[in-house]
Amino acid sequence: LTFLGLESSCDDTAAAVVRRLPDGRGEILSSVVAGQAALHAAYGGVVPEIAARAHAEKLDVCVDEALSEAGFALADLDGIAVTAGPGLIGGVLSGVMCAKGLAAGAGLPLVGVNHLAGHALTPRLTDGVAFPYLMLLVSGGHCQFLIASGPETYTRLGGTIDDAPGEAFDKVARLLGLPQPGGPEVERDAQSGNIRAFSLPRPLLDRPGCDMSFSGLKTAVLRARDGIVAEKGGLTRQDRADLCASFQAAVCDVLAEKSRRALEQYLESAPETPVFAVAGGVSANRAIRSGLENLCRGMGVRFLAPPLTLCTDNAAMIAWAGLERFVGGASDGMDLAARPRWPLDRRSPALLGSGK
Ligand code: ATP
Ligand code: FE
Repeated sequence: LTFLGLESSCDDTAAAVVRRLPDGRGEILSSVVAGQAALHAAYGGVVPEIAARAHAEKLDVCVDEALSEAGFALADLDGIAVTAGPGLIGGVLSGVMCAKGLAAGAGLPLVGVNHLAGHALTPRLTDGVAFPYLMLLVSGGHCQFLIASGPETYTRLGGTIDDAPGEAFDKVARLLGLPQPGGPEVERDAQSGNIRAFSLPRPLLDRPGCDMSFSGLKTAVLRARDGIVAEKGGLTRQDRADLCASFQAAVCDVLAEKSRRALEQYLESAPETPVFAVAGGVSANRAIRSGLENLCRGMGVRFLAPPLTLCTDNAAMIAWAGLERFVGGASDGMDLAARPRWPLDRRSPALLGSGK
């Protein structure tokens, strides 16, 4: 089975062709991502209206590229998967409309996908891991521990009660004058910084459970920055690197300790081959990856992190999540709705309503 996937829920327009192999893993035949960073750079964040227009303009180009790179004609596909939410509604609508047009025109099945399920199913695409596995989904808009026990069945163990870590990385970058998206910038500067230069909080570690908080951490960085500016009139390169390193270390510590607790909970169910997988844009961060890898090594759990290109938004994960739903017997009609909000740990009434 081979699916075309479309992704347009935030600031990346993407199309990909993915085949499901007999062993249950996926093979990515093409994965095209057209980022919009340059369009939003002047505004210091993603502007929804600009994003929606850019998606509408770029989707067909990305689809053409993905098909020709994969050597597939539309008619040779087995279905079209599209992100139906959550995300910026204008972008999601562009993708859903494009997918409906393609599916209707070519007479192909249409499968709506939860963007977060795309991230969460990535370890099955890359490594064919079996359910149930523990997942840390950590991205620009989300941060949660989930036990994935089926393509559409997720149990949430906890998550952030305010900002997502990606959002915190982006805000820290902004207040240090670094470009967006901030994660890779902060990670790069952190490499030449001292993690002990500033003592930043580790929020909620004193409380039981897997819930996390990152907004206070960003405020602590702001205060530390203002302190240096008040004292010396500005930030040196080294100050900035030290702030980045101290901030990143605090995020690493919180994620590692909360992951340990989530793992303990997951291991109580005695899974046959325990797996802890991380996904989402922030999982591209090398310090975070290695912190979690060490934790898993100590606990005798297999650790999986996607290749860097599959951490941030892409359409290969959407094509794959669509394949998983389709193999499970699901597809959608022309009434598939675009949903700005769509939590992963509950099945979508919209999709249930139109699912066949
Ligand atoms: P969501 O998936 O929650 O809807 P999104 O799709 O915007 O949000 P992703 O594309 O999965 O998020 O991730 C983007 C986020 O990942 C941004 O906040 C970005 O700063 C962050 N990020 C990317 N690379 C890194 C890195 N190396 N270190 C830390 N954060 C990173
Ligand atoms: Fe994402």
